[in-house]
Amino acid sequence: MDTDVLIVGAGPTGLMLANQLARRGVRAMIIDRHSGPAQQSRAMAVQARTLEIYSKMGLVDEALSLGREGTGASMWANGKWMARVPLGAIGKNLSPFPYVLALGQDDNERIMGAKLQTYGVDIQWNTELIAFQQTQDYVNVTLKQPDGSTRKLTAAWVAGCDGGKSAVRDMSGITFPGAPYEHTFFVADTEAIGPMKPGELNVYMWQDGFHLFFPMRGKDRWRVIGILPKALRARTDLKFEDLTADIRREAGAELSFKECSWFSTYRIHHRCAERFRDRRCFLLGDAAHVHSPAGGQGMNTGLQDAYNLGWKLALVVKGQADAALLDSYEQERQPVAQRLLRTTDRIFTLLVSDSWVAGVFRTRVLARILARAMTIERVRGAAFRTISQIGIRYRKGPLSQVLGSLPEGAPLAGDRFPWLHLKLQTNGPVEDLYQKLDDTRFNLLVFGQPAPVAESLGVGDLIRVHAIPDDPINANELTRTHITGPAFYLLRPDGHVGLAGSRLDAAAVTRYFAEHHLRVDRGGAGAGALSLRSAA
Ligand SMILES: Cc1cc2nc3c(=O)[nH]c(=O)nc-3n(C[C@H](O)[C@H](O)[C@H](O)COP(=O)(O)OP(=O)(O)OC[C@H]3O[C@@H](n4cnc5c(N)ncnc54)[C@H](O)[C@@H]3O)c2cc1C
Repeated sequence: MDTDVLIVGAGPTGLMLANQLARRGVRAMIIDRHSGPAQQSRAMAVQARTLEIYSKMGLVDEALSLGREGTGASMWANGKWMARVPLGAIGKNLSPFPYVLALGQDDNERIMGAKLQTYGVDIQWNTELIAFQQTQDYVNVTLKQPDGSTRKLTAAWVAGCDGGKSAVRDMSGITFPGAPYEHTFFVADTEAIGPMKPGELNVYMWQDGFHLFFPMRGKDRWRVIGILPKALRARTDLKFEDLTADIRREAGAELSFKECSWFSTYRIHHRCAERFRDRRCFLLGDAAHVHSPAGGQGMNTGLQDAYNLGWKLALVVKGQADAALLDSYEQERQPVAQRLLRTTDRIFTLLVSDSWVAGVFRTRVLARILARAMTIERVRGAAFRTISQIGIRYRKGPLSQVLGSLPEGAPLAGDRFPWLHLKLQTNGPVEDLYQKLDDTRFNLLVFGQPAPVAESLGVGDLIRVHAIPDDPINANELTRTHITGPAFYLLRPDGHVGLAGSRLDAAAVTRYFAEHHLRVDRGGAGAGALSLRSAA
C-alpha cells in the first residue's frame, strides 16, 4: 500500500483531516491540483466550535492573534443607522470562545498548513486526481503530476475534500441534488472610509437586497459582500468600480473606496450529496454539501466533518477499530448538512427575495427585531448554540447510547459535552475541563461514585478516566448543566458523548467499545467484563 489515506484537496477541510490524522500518528498523503495555497480570503467567520478544536491542535493562540473578535453588528436601512445587534461574548459560559472570530480562510489554511509541516507532512501541489477504481482492500488511484506525467498508486482510503466540483464524488457516481440560487454574489476586499461603525459587522439593508461590510485586519480594510443589482446580473466583464455607485447609494454618499485588492462574483448552489461515502471513499466539506454563506457556516462545517472522520479513520488505520466504525461518519454528518441546508436556505431566501414585502421586512422590521431579541439571554444562548456549531449533536447516531435515565436537561449521548470548570482533584484548583480532556482518546468522566481504573476496562490506552471529586464547587457547576446525582459520561475523542448513564457499571464501558466496533483487549481485565456480558 502506498498510503493509508489519500486526501484529495488541500483546502480547509483537507488540511484539517490531514492534521487530525497526523496528530494521531497516521501520515496521510495530501494532494491539490492548484500550484499553492489560495490567496483569497473567501470564508471569514470562524465559529466557536472550530476554535475549540484549534485549541486542541495548539493553533488557537495564533488564530486569535490574527483574527478579530466579532463584537456586534450595526444595522442600516436605506442609508440610515437603525440598530445595533450586540454579538460580543454572547456565548458566555457556553464556550471558552464565546464569540465569532473574523479570520479569513487564507489565514486558516496557512496556520493549518504550517502545523501539518511540523508533523513532516508536505502538501503535494500541482497534483491532480484523475481516476480511481476501488477494490475490496484498497483503491487504485491515478494522479497527474506537476510535470504532466501520470502516476499510479494504491491507497487504503480516499478522502474527497476536493470542493463543490468534487472529482471523488463524480467518479464515485454519487449525485449532488439541489439547485443554484438565481442571484449572483459579489465579494470584494477593499480599503474604504465611510459611515461604517469600525471594528464590527455593518449590515446595509435595502429594498432589493443587502450589503455586508466585514472588518478585516489592517486600517480601513473591509470585506464587502452583496448581490449584484438586477441591471448588472447579466454582465460578464464586471469590475468592482461598476458597483460602487450602487453601494454608495445605499450606504451613503460619504462612503468612498480607495482600493480593491480582490473582487469576485459567484453563483451559489444549495446541494447535498446523496451519500457521504462509497466503500473506501469519503466526501467531506464542500464536496459533500454547499449552501449559502448566510451565517458563516460553510468552512466550519467542512472542518467539523474532518474532525468527525479523523479520529475514526485513525483508529481503523491503526487497527484499533473495525472498518464498520466508519459507517457512523455519514450517519452523523449527513443529517447535520441537510439541516444546515434547510436553515441557511430559509434565511437566505428572505435576505435576497425580490418581493416588495420582503423588502419592507428587511428595511423596516428586521433590524429592530434582531436588536430586541438579542437582549434576551435565552435567545442569545440559543442563537449562539446554533451559529457557533456547539449545539450540533448526534443523539440519533449509531454511536450514541444512554443507560438508564438521566435528570431532565442533563447532557445526553450524542451531545457535545458542555464546557465546565471543575475541581479535578480533591483540594486541587478549579480547572478548565476542556484543557484536561485528551482528544486523541476516549475520556470517561465519573461523578458522585467510585471510578474504575483505566487498565481494568480492557481497552488498552484508548481511554482516560477522570474521577470528579464530590465538592460544593463541583456540585454548583454540575447543577448548571443539570448533572445532579451520580452520573458517568464516556466522551468520544471529538468531545461528543458516546455512552451516558447514572450508575456506572465498568463492564458497560467495555461492552460499549465491543459493540461499537472498537477493539477490546480480550486478554486483559476487560475480558472479564466481556464475559460478564456473555453471561448476562
Ligand atoms: C468567493 C467565495 C466566497 C466565499 N465566502 C464564504 C463565506 O463568507 N463564508 C463561508 O462560510 N463560506 C464561504 N465560501 C465557501 C467556503 O470558501 C467553502 O465552504 C470552503 O472553501 C470549503 O472548503 P473545502 O476544503 O471543503 O473545499 P475547497 O476550499 O473548495 O478546497 C478544495 C480543494 O480541492 C482541490 N481539488 C479539486 N479537485 C481536485 C482534484 N481532482 N485533484 C486534486 N485537488 C483537487 C482544489 O484545488 C481546492 O484547493 C466562499 C466561497 C467562495 C468561492
